[in-house]
Amino acid sequence: MPAQRPTAGEVTRFRTVGPQHMDEVAARYGLSHGALETVRAVSRVLPFRVNDYVLSELIDWNRVPEDPIFQLVFPQHGMLRAEDEKLLVDLARARAPKREIAAEVRRIRAGLNPHPSGQMELNVPSLADDALEGIQHKYRETVLYFPQQGQTCHSYCTYCFRWAQFIGDADLRFAAPGPERLVEYLRCHPAVSDVLFTGGDPMVMSTERLRSHLEPVLSVETVRTVRIGTKAVAYWPQRFVSDADADDLLRLFEQVVASGRTLAVMAHFSHPRELETATARRALGRVRATGAVVYCQAPLIAHVNDDARTWAELWRAELSAGAVPYYMFVERDTGPRHYFEVPLTKGLEIFRTAYSKLPGLARTVRGPVMSATPGKVLVDGVEETAEGRFFQLRMVQARDPDLVGRPFRARWSPTAAWMDHLELDPSAPADIAAAFAGTSRRPMAGVSE
Ligand code: SF4
Repeated sequence: MPAQRPTAGEVTRFRTVGPQHMDEVAARYGLSHGALETVRAVSRVLPFRVNDYVLSELIDWNRVPEDPIFQLVFPQHGMLRAEDEKLLVDLARARAPKREIAAEVRRIRAGLNPHPSGQMELNVPSLADDALEGIQHKYRETVLYFPQQGQTCHSYCTYCFRWAQFIGDADLRFAAPGPERLVEYLRCHPAVSDVLFTGGDPMVMSTERLRSHLEPVLSVETVRTVRIGTKAVAYWPQRFVSDADADDLLRLFEQVVASGRTLAVMAHFSHPRELETATARRALGRVRATGAVVYCQAPLIAHVNDDARTWAELWRAELSAGAVPYYMFVERDTGPRHYFEVPLTKGLEIFRTAYSKLPGLARTVRGPVMSATPGKVLVDGVEETAEGRFFQLRMVQARDPDLVGRPFRARWSPTAAWMDHLELDPSAPADIAAAFAGTSRRPMAGVSE
């Protein structure tokens, strides 16, 4: 049973809790010695950070270790290969030299595909042959911007596909020191209508810092939508309610809206519990009152949200908070994917069952969707034919805009969990087949033009 647990609504001072605080966490919430050793070992490889709000108001400590929020933020046994976890535990017990441990950690990380879907090679744009730091351009209309000071989060998700952003390796990190090059790039690319501020979580920045990155973008007339990707409503809703500059932040949001742009807050909710606290509901209400539209998205993750009831509840909660259910993603091919992955056929079943329980207004959601190298692939159904079973697939976004909206299919498999597990049907259109084989000759939207 937890001891000294603050009552709901009590946490107002932001404090991060990491591996160095694990003795305190174990004593306060009653974590076993084995669990403690696992957190210490796995967090050498994967980033671990949580805060007092998540610890005291979101995790149900009576259900640990199965509790979905505990699974969402605490490193778990099984996330690394058994021999790697054992090795790290043994090295710690033997008080091995730091250098030896660091070498093993580097080896294990390199085996976890730190930058999936060609992010490093395919999405970095350039101007006059200079690669632009902290910017990605994959789809024609949308540029992703990674402001340098926004490259952490209020808490880390164990399944994060951007985990490599948080491990202190500059070679694996996207970060833009300032918006000057972004603005230049946008002026040269008027087809870009949307700029997504992302990270990490841009909401970790002070309002003044965010303003310094955001205002220059508003000077580019062709930018019509500013998107902000954030999990702050789930992990630190006080950012919009009681932080010292929370009101200034809302004024900044109003300024974006007053400029005639759409402000889209791309909120990440993994579980309905994140929307249950009064602070989270208040935060959403305050954000919406600025004129921003809140779109919600999250991946489907084993141990966290892999059942239809959870998703139906989540989408209903989003709708009743005035937000728009948008995407259910498939867990990406990176990090401890084997721990979290859900076969596509099960994901489809979960999506359909949950979707069928929704009122029409919540059926804005799409899924399950894979953000693969050529684009976003929707798993739309399963088809029984004389030649066997197939997944019906459709590109809902693509590097090559000609592929968007086009159906194709791949042989059904009970275990396939990602595009690279699928065998495309030979009848797939040649350009789609080429995009997935990596042999497409079409220019990619994000590469220097
Ligand atoms: S909030 Fe987003 S960026 Fe941050 S750890 Fe979670 S998934 Fe990753």
